[in-house]
This record gives sequence, C-alpha cells and structure tokens, in this order.
Amino acid sequence: MENRYFHPESLMMSFGYKPELSEGAIKCPIFQTSTFVFKSAEEGKAFFEVAYGQREKAPNEDLGLIYSRLNNPDLQILEERLCLWDGADECAVFESGMSAISTVMLEFLRPGDVLLYSKPVYGGTDHFINKVLPEYGIKGIGFTNTEDPDQIIENLKSLGLDKQLKMVYVETPANPTNALFDLESCKKIADYFTSDEKDVVVCVDNTYMGPLWQHPLKHGADLVIYSATKYIGGHSDLIAGAVLGHSKYMKRVRTLRTFLGNMAGPWTGWLLMRSLETLKVRMTQQAENAVKVAKFLQNHPKVEKVYYLGHLEPGTAQHAIFKKQLFSAGAMLSFDVKGGEKEAFTFLNSLKLIKLAVSLGSTESLAEHPATMTHSDVSAEDKAMIGITEKLIRISVGVEHYDDIIWDMEQALEKV
Ligand SMILES: *Cc1c(COP(=O)(O)O)cnc(C)c1O
Repeated sequence: MENRYFHPESLMMSFGYKPELSEGAIKCPIFQTSTFVFKSAEEGKAFFEVAYGQREKAPNEDLGLIYSRLNNPDLQILEERLCLWDGADECAVFESGMSAISTVMLEFLRPGDVLLYSKPVYGGTDHFINKVLPEYGIKGIGFTNTEDPDQIIENLKSLGLDKQLKMVYVETPANPTNALFDLESCKKIADYFTSDEKDVVVCVDNTYMGPLWQHPLKHGADLVIYSATKYIGGHSDLIAGAVLGHSKYMKRVRTLRTFLGNMAGPWTGWLLMRSLETLKVRMTQQAENAVKVAKFLQNHPKVEKVYYLGHLEPGTAQHAIFKKQLFSAGAMLSFDVKGGEKEAFTFLNSLKLIKLAVSLGSTESLAEHPATMTHSDVSAEDKAMIGITEKLIRISVGVEHYDDIIWDMEQALEKV
C-alpha cells in the first residue's frame, strides 16, 4: 500500500505544483512575469549552464527559472501534467497548434529533405507543407490510407529518395472523414529508411483523439502533436499547441522554441491547467453523446451516410486499426445530407443550439461545411479522393444533453 499509481485524471489538480512555494495557495497562481530574480550570481550561472546545454542536470536539480521565454511555472507544470496522459518524457507547449507543427518541421527538415505525409491533413498543415516548405527546398509527398506500406517504400526507392526522407507525418483519424492510418506501418516505413547517418522521425497529429483516446507514442511515434485549442483547451477560449515525446527529440524542439520564441504565455498555461482538470469528464461525456447522435443520424431518412468510428464494420482493415489504436470512437463525426450544398447550408442555417463554427473538441457542439470552410483550399481532385463533397457536414459533439443536440439536428433536418 506504499506506492499507488494514480490515474492521470487524479493528478490533474495537483501534479508538479508545490503550494509551499506560493504562500500555500491550493492552485498554481498565474506567474505573470517576464523574468526571475536569482538568489546569487552563482545560481544564475548554474541555471544558464543547464538551460543552454553546457552541462547535464544533477540528479535532484530542478531546472532553474530564468526568463519566461525559456520557462515559466505555469508552462512547466502544465507540460509535466500533459506528459502523464501520453506517457511522454517531455512536453513543450506552444502558442498555437500551427506553431507546434511548423517548429517540429523546421527542426527536423533541411533543404533537400523529403517529408512523407498522410492525406488529408489539417488545412494549415497542408498549406505549410505545400506552400511554405518548398520555399526552403523541402518537398512533401502525400500518401492515403489505401496505399500499402511496402508499395510506398518501393515508390520512394524508385524515386531515389532513400537518403532524403527525414520525416513521416501522420494525422489519424483524418479530418473530416475519420479515415484511420496504421501507425505501425508508418513506423515500418520510417525504420526502413533509417540509417546510421540519419533518423526518420515519425510525428503524429493526435488532435482529433485528444490525449485520452489514442497514445501514438505506444505505437511507434517519436513525437505527438496537439492543437491544444481543441480538446485540451476545450472551451473555445484560447489558442495553443503542444509537442510531446522522447527527450532525445524534445530537447531539439524545445531549443528551437526558445529561439523562435513561440512558447505560450503564463495566462494561456494557467487556462490550460484549469482545462486539464476536467479533460477526462468532458471527453467521456462528449464520446457518450456522440454514440447517441451517430445513431440518430444513421436512422434519419434525409441522411445518406454517417462517418463515425463507432460504426466501422468488424472484419475490415479500418476496424482492425480502430481496435489496435483507439480507446474510443471519439466525438467527431460527419455525415452526407441527401442533396448538395443547398441542403447542407439549409441544415447549418437552421441550427438553434449547435453553433455554426469551425474548430472542434469544445464543450459546445459545433457544425461546419468542410468543402467551403475548413477544406476549401484542398484541390478538387483531392476532395473527390478523400470524400469531401458538397453534402458533407462535420459535427464536433459537445457536452450538452444529447436529447437537445438530437432535437436541434432533427428540427434542422426537417427544414432541408
Ligand atoms: C486546429 C488544428 C490544428 C491547428 O491548430 P491551431 O491551434 O489552430 O493552430 C492542427 N491540426 C489539427 C488536426 C487541428 O484540428
């Protein structure tokens, strides 16, 4: 009975925080400060040696507080708490999901390198890979979940890209249709092209599943990335991002963050700590609500098709990945309304409780039209391939009473 392993949700209120350092305050205060006072010049010197990697930390040495671009208690405690869910060594919090993603890509890719990425990815990520990285001589090659990993390896070899491949970047489940990618296959591709001279880093954008429902590090990922704006923040009131993983890679991510200066501020860190206390209850309720909403949609005569992970057919490859990688079907779903843009827009304009907005994972349910909103930038060819049609509507299920969410959808579908 000496040592108990506490579940992450039991530690979200207290882990990493020492009340005695803050006048006994039960909650971590907002350390709204740019810089920290050293007790002595010697202490300042010692802190800098560790911060700049000139020496390793002593076994019981805490990283000294120097300056809020390097570290701040609100970020540091938040980062320690986030590690608990994914089982990561280290975490770095950023001022947005996009800054987390772009920092990781800039750190591990150099001119001439190639990045293999799953399609579809988040619109901002797609833009960064296809519009920004080429300006630095970095090339992105997309793959879909219908491609066989051995075939992808053969293709890369035949293109003579063995030496250039440095990163496999995956978003699973993919937005907005919930297409699943097998992370072990992605790891296999990365391992094939790993040599003594270079690593091939596997990065997974786990935003759709939050830290609760999928743990990519346990399936071969080196780094996990979140838009903390979504489930982690969960209240539609902040923008933030996070990267987690093994120390070997996180040291590099953290160092580039220090010099790009795109860490989150103390106020955002504090809000995220507050959000983490309810992460499990929020996400659990959202997933329960999604079961009911998906069932309602599936039986509705004006709905053609529902894309929901809880409805995957046993025996299919997608279902096998689901069983292997996910703990829940999640709370994101989409559906094809019978008709096209006109019918989809009538539905969206008729909603009374569910908000018409992009973003996801928040306490309130959100609905949007991927073809003209989040995915309007995707080429017509890719849209057709991925199934982003004019009749597709994406729903992020919130924590409201599910009867009210369903009532709202029912009355909106009646207007269609
Ligand atoms: C929202 C989102 C992002 C971008 O995050 P921001 O916090 O908006 O910068 C990246 N990936 C996915 C899957 C997202 O949903």
